[in-house]
Amino acid sequence: MNAVNLLDFDLDGLTVFCEQLGEKRFRATQLFRWIHQKGATDFDQMSDLAKSLRSKLKGVATLQDLSVISEHVSSDGTIKWLFDVGAGNAVESVYIPESDRGTLCVSSQAGCAVGCRFCSTGHQGFSRNLTTGEIVAQLWHAEYALRKRLGTTERVISNVVMMGMGEPLQNYSALVPALKVMLDDHGYGLSRRRVTVSTSGVVPMIERLQNDCPVALAVSLHAPNDALRDELVPLNRKYPIDELLTACQAYLTAAPRDFITFEYCMLDGVNDTDEHARQLIALVKGRINCKFNLIPFNPFPASGLLRSNNERVQAFARILVDAGIVTTVRKTRGDDIDAACGQLAGEVQDRTRAAARMLRQPVAVKVALPKPGERHRSAP
Ligand code: SAH
Ligand code: SF4
Repeated sequence: MNAVNLLDFDLDGLTVFCEQLGEKRFRATQLFRWIHQKGATDFDQMSDLAKSLRSKLKGVATLQDLSVISEHVSSDGTIKWLFDVGAGNAVESVYIPESDRGTLCVSSQAGCAVGCRFCSTGHQGFSRNLTTGEIVAQLWHAEYALRKRLGTTERVISNVVMMGMGEPLQNYSALVPALKVMLDDHGYGLSRRRVTVSTSGVVPMIERLQNDCPVALAVSLHAPNDALRDELVPLNRKYPIDELLTACQAYLTAAPRDFITFEYCMLDGVNDTDEHARQLIALVKGRINCKFNLIPFNPFPASGLLRSNNERVQAFARILVDAGIVTTVRKTRGDDIDAACGQLAGEVQDRTRAAARMLRQPVAVKVALPKPGERHRSAP
């Protein structure tokens, strides 16, 4: 019999597992706390569990950490881990320290099938869904590596954003138990407001998340009309903007926050004009309580897209703010170690040939192509 990875279980799942071993339910809670609150990597460390249970567990269960390919520390304190998930696939997690919080950006898939034009992961195509254990292990690994590094027994990671590689709502069945581990008071005890799922707009799964595990929701909008969004976020052809906004409105009835965050990647000459900003206002004003988070595009080779310059981003933000919409511009963190949004490439065995497909279908909207040798990582 293959050993079961205990990181695959939320507390309910672990309780069922313990009962199958003939153990009382409260043993599951003890075990769960050892794993997630104390970072135990070995059953022998679990001193308040009976020796007989520990040896039973050794026979049937493991705690499967991810193997680290590399760990990079940015000059701004951002840390990026590259994890091997087998068969030539690697995924990334990024820790972003701020004065009042520590955020971990977590991956949900090796690659991504959505294929957004401006996203490095999208260009790699899709390889496979991560398991619950692989999603949880990113947090488990990072939290205990950070505690060790900082010499503390206190919690370091206060926020999780599902904004790494992959579309979390296309890996729903693995995602939800992982979120429950993050939220559980016997697990990481994170508040629902501090766990954010970011989605490119998988409408039916937004509806399910609302019932199964409402956490903060960020929606990658990136365009104010269907024609443009169809080009940038191909999933829009299946779930157009109007359906997406209706799902967002419904989500707010259960969400831990009273607004949806719309992410908007600022692409020079593509989606960043004053007219685009006005269209956005017309779309959301009076319909949905939201905030906008403008993300200056982080270029990567082969995207063929440019970052909007800072003046353009500020002017765009100003139009939204003047219309009464709270708007922030995301600070780029960790770009000296390629840890910024959309630069998470990991390494994926592309079984969908996404990059080749994208090359055959150039973006139909006006796109400013970089001049040879031009780099736009640090726009003025
Ligand atoms: N698949 C999910 C979550 C991962 S991407 C989603 O799309 O929402 C996290 C955020 O980074 C998304 O808003 C995504 O659109 C944005 N992003 C992707 N590539 C980017 C790039 N090259 N520059 C800036 N932001 C990017
Ligand atoms: Fe996938 Fe999100 Fe990248 Fe789009 S932006 S390709 S949904 S990871």
